[in-house]
Amino acid sequence: MQDLKGKTAIVTGASRGIGREIATQLARRGADVAINYVSRESDANAVVKELEDLGVRSLALQADLSQMSAGRELIHKVQNEWGQIDILVNNAGITRDKAMKNLTDADWTEVLDTNLGSVYATCSEVLPIMMEQKFGRIINITSFVGQAGNFGQANYAASKGGIIAFTKTLALEVARHNITVNAIAPGFTETEMLAQVPENIRQKIIARVPMGRFGRPEEIARAVVFIAAEGDYITGQQINVNGGVYM
Ligand code: NAP
Repeated sequence: MQDLKGKTAIVTGASRGIGREIATQLARRGADVAINYVSRESDANAVVKELEDLGVRSLALQADLSQMSAGRELIHKVQNEWGQIDILVNNAGITRDKAMKNLTDADWTEVLDTNLGSVYATCSEVLPIMMEQKFGRIINITSFVGQAGNFGQANYAASKGGIIAFTKTLALEVARHNITVNAIAPGFTETEMLAQVPENIRQKIIARVPMGRFGRPEEIARAVVFIAAEGDYITGQQINVNGGVYM
């Protein structure tokens, strides 16, 4: 199915993990996809090659999205290159997990700037473009942790809860321009982010998940692509893809 042919997309943090799978599935549906990364250039180039092999245009753009100026510049580069941005997926995210008593100001700022500040910066820059087009699909990757909280993740939970509140507010403001804004909230998903977690904790996590396993990046990506391709009347929503870990 090539129902996204003629559309262009940006996926932040798409050199690996969930972002990579989102980029791949958007490309399989025919979209041209610009991918962003911060440090893993060769991984990003491998993704570009994979997308081009699917018959679409692709670009790898380095940008450290903890800096708002870099997020704004990312949008401009794609607009200058392709002249349109139809789909923006804000996926880049990091963790710096510690119990509150050990959390430093740097742990707080780094996570809030990367996870939430980047969403503000890219959205504010892309809105005039999408308004002019009278079309836009913005999809922000949050987490069930932003809904439920999680031990050792006060900074991450605040950033992800912030994304949900931001998503709803922006959805209200831009709905009349045919721009939808939604959040996808994954549960524990098998990527490098989760691989950082020690094995004994991983076993405890699985025990909390009603479906008894971690999610797969492709399962998160399917929800993103559904919103991008078929979610014309869906806005301001948080869609949980979490194996039942939070209901
Ligand atoms: P991941 O495997 O750790 O990949 C992170 C991606 O973000 C990489 O492409 C990385 O680029 C990029 N990135 C990191 N810092 C960046 C920065 N400052 N500027 C630009 N890009 C940056 O993560 P993931 O597990 O796929 O997570 C993707 C999203 O899903 C995140 O928002 C995460 O919070 C959310 N999520 C994940 C889980 C989970 O269990 N995995 C659960 C819920 C929500 P480089 O490769 O260049 O470093």
